[in-house]
Amino acid sequence: MIRFEHVFKRYPERGEALGDISFEMNPGEMVFLTGHSGAGKSTLLRLIGLLERPSRGQVMVNGRNLATLPRRQIPFHRRQVGMIFQDHRLLPDRSVFENVALPLVVMGLGHKEIGRRVRAALDQVGLLRRERATPVALSGGEQQRVGIARAVVARPPVLLADEPTGNLDPDLSREIFVLFERFHYVGVTLLIATHDLNLVESMRHRTITLDEGRLVNDTGDW
Ligand code: ADP
Ligand code: ADP
Repeated sequence: MIRFEHVFKRYPERGEALGDISFEMNPGEMVFLTGHSGAGKSTLLRLIGLLERPSRGQVMVNGRNLATLPRRQIPFHRRQVGMIFQDHRLLPDRSVFENVALPLVVMGLGHKEIGRRVRAALDQVGLLRRERATPVALSGGEQQRVGIARAVVARPPVLLADEPTGNLDPDLSREIFVLFERFHYVGVTLLIATHDLNLVESMRHRTITLDEGRLVNDTGDW
């Protein structure tokens, strides 16, 4: 589902952020990506989401080589990859419903279909009754769940999360990870960058570790 072949990423100002990264993820795998701050986790996720391009090497997602993806297929690719951020990036002046609906509005879906899909996504994250609220009225954990609903509403086969529990206490963090596991159980491929080693160890999924841009450990399938 995701394959990196000798991927390097160099930022002009900072030097090498990723060096010679190779790994493969099967469809439906749930994998944690760990490593210190600055290890290259965000960069790796951004390459999969095509928010960034490698300096060298190949990234394949869902059978496509991103380096040779025609420009007009980029929006399609982005819909295949749901992204979740630490700061959730919700629009503060829009309701929960409108925030989650955004990807579907961009896709040009009809009103009724949007309503149906948004409610299905909110139901999956346990926030069906909060659709009219604005993000500021929600707790940190609820805000992150809205971010997750928005990431899954277009049914992407791949979900990427970048420190999704960075702002949450341990109990809420565990709830978010349990939610990710539910997507794993229905066949979604997940790659989750996190510092939360206690949680990672308690959940027993494959874990890939980066250190200064190098892949230094991969537990393989448990
Ligand atoms: P992590 O997510 O593990 O904290 P990052 O991928 O954010 O690591 O960062 C890896 C390295 O690349 C760091 O040295 C960081 O400063 C650098 N970096 C990340 N993004 C950029 C950018 N847009 N421009 C320049 N340097 C960057
Ligand atoms: P549809 O919307 O296509 O009619 P359903 O609403 O019947 O499908 O949903 C079937 C189930 O598939 C959902 O409950 C959900 O758990 C699961 N599912 C499969 N892929 C995804 C995905 N990418 N994001 C969220 N849920 C998914």
